[in-house]
Amino acid sequence: MNAQTHHDQTSIYDVVIVGAGFAGLYLIHLLRSRGLTVRCFEAGDGVGGTWYWNRYPGARCDVESQEYSFSFNKELEREWRWTERYSDQTQILGYLNFVADRLELRRDIALSARVQSAIFDDIRKRWTVQASNGETAIARFCIMATGCLSAAQLPNIKGRDSFKGELYHTGQWPHHDVDFEGKHVGVIGTGSSGIQVIPQIAQRAKHLTVFQRTPNFSIPAWNKPLSPEKIADWNMNRDDYRAIAKKSRSGILYEYATRSVFDVNEDERLKEYEARWLRGGANFVHAFNDLFLDEKANETAAAFVKEKIRSRVKDPQIAKILTPNDHPIGTKRICVDTDYYETYNRKNVTLVDLRKEPMTGISPEGIALGDRIIPLDMIVFATGFDAVTGALLRIDIRGQNGLTLKETWQEGPKSYLGLAVAGFPNLFIVTGPGSPSITTNVVMAIEQHVEWIGRCVTDLKSKPDVMIEARSDAQENWVQHVRDVAAGTLFPKAKSWYMGANIPGKPQVFLPYIGGLGNYTRLCDEIATDNYRGFLIY
Ligand code: FAD
Ligand code: NAP
Repeated sequence: MNAQTHHDQTSIYDVVIVGAGFAGLYLIHLLRSRGLTVRCFEAGDGVGGTWYWNRYPGARCDVESQEYSFSFNKELEREWRWTERYSDQTQILGYLNFVADRLELRRDIALSARVQSAIFDDIRKRWTVQASNGETAIARFCIMATGCLSAAQLPNIKGRDSFKGELYHTGQWPHHDVDFEGKHVGVIGTGSSGIQVIPQIAQRAKHLTVFQRTPNFSIPAWNKPLSPEKIADWNMNRDDYRAIAKKSRSGILYEYATRSVFDVNEDERLKEYEARWLRGGANFVHAFNDLFLDEKANETAAAFVKEKIRSRVKDPQIAKILTPNDHPIGTKRICVDTDYYETYNRKNVTLVDLRKEPMTGISPEGIALGDRIIPLDMIVFATGFDAVTGALLRIDIRGQNGLTLKETWQEGPKSYLGLAVAGFPNLFIVTGPGSPSITTNVVMAIEQHVEWIGRCVTDLKSKPDVMIEARSDAQENWVQHVRDVAAGTLFPKAKSWYMGANIPGKPQVFLPYIGGLGNYTRLCDEIATDNYRGFLIY
């Protein structure tokens, strides 16, 4: 199937892909290799997605580098060398640019091209996709690879736009150097982004004020260069490691415990927590198999980390403000840090507890806390994202009979397997609501989604006017299953972005599927083999 030019700016393709992060890049490669024509639109002026946008100092992955990379191509794996346990943003962005070059992906990508609308034509059975660069693409399939953490959330704080100093969001970090030297800087937000950027800014700014609304749990990364032994081991056993990861719950080579907190005595429990603390990273929350299921069990892990916070922060009052008390550990994405808590021991760092002293607005000079104004030269918003659904709902997506995705998802998103939505034929979503995506090593989740979509599109390739669409009953059952699985855990107890709780007015439903990547993959494969059970093919 060849792309044909329709007129100057309208072209016809088999598939339009929106987004050129990990997901979009792999989609281009895989679908092209199956003989399909593709056009990819990317809003940024470079590829890389998350790693293109989040250039803030300290940005790095919290899944180990060797695992947080593509597994589908042995040559890419052999040629690329990770150097640190957790790679920084520049290295991951470098890697994604290497992939784009090595697989010659750029010729099918339009950069600085934000997709504004994707509209399904019932008669022609084709999607019409319009982008801000003036291009219109008509395609049989439309795949949203728009990212689950790509719609930056800049809170609408009174007076925000009157601020005279510099204002940045971690998820839309500028390409020029940001100079903190000699400046009074304020950071709003203490999620994973805040926890990474705060220690970096503290080292460079004259004074840093952190505005914290809710404290989070963080585990040290103990980041370090990858040793020659670790590299050799990975190279030798890579295929086995990847196979194990893909079958696991999180797509990560964690040591998943098989015993309960209550199977061991307190000494043994503390030993286990200490050992995991010293190994670092999110592996900590897999120390026992009931940490996400039983509040009492969870409290033991939370108490251990709270004690660590007290030991890392010299001032007991500040330690208290930094200690989480409103959610079970791990039910908000656990943070992984380098010297986060120690940063509050510095003389040039102040912590403001917004629970005690709420932010009342932003003035031209700084941040207002009632009558008090904290004068600032720069405000950094580390305030997160309209996660999972945000990037999709910022596009005017219309399916059959003009039905909009916005209307369809008014009371919360519904999808079948997180991959497809009833009423939207030939539309696929990568890491959509109801898929494991953000609760896993997202790169492994992306590979699974892309390969499943690739299989489906290839199976339908020889029937050009046939459509595939999620059946409403299958979708309802899946949505219920996603909720039931979440309800059996402690996750819904946290007011997190997993629940949509960080966005005013967003329906509060548990967005990802936490039944495990391995189980999900098996189910998706079974469904495809069973002639796409739960889908209408017509
Ligand atoms: P993205 O990388 O978000 O790419 C989506 C692309 O779509 C973006 O470039 C965006 O510009 C584009 N786009 C969106 N809307 C439009 C539109 N309308 N028109 C055109 N283009 C559009 N996950 C992990 O598993 N481990 C980690 O350690 C980890 N660290 C992270 C650190 C940060 C700071 C953040 C924000 C996320 C992190 N994540 C991590 C999650 C991360 O988003 C995924 O791992 C992965 O990079 C997602 O790839 P993607 O291609 O699905 O989406
Ligand atoms: P986040 O986890 O949603 O944290 C946002 C922070 O901003 C929270 O502390 C929130 O406080 C605060 N906030 C939001 N609006 C506010 C307001 N109006 N006033 C005061 N405070 C406000 O976002 P994030 O830190 O960007 O992380 C999002 C996700 O991206 C992570 O969970 C993770 O999956 C991924 N990520 C990963 C890494 C990594 O280590 N690899 C790094 C960065 C991001 P409340 O909690 O009170 O709402």
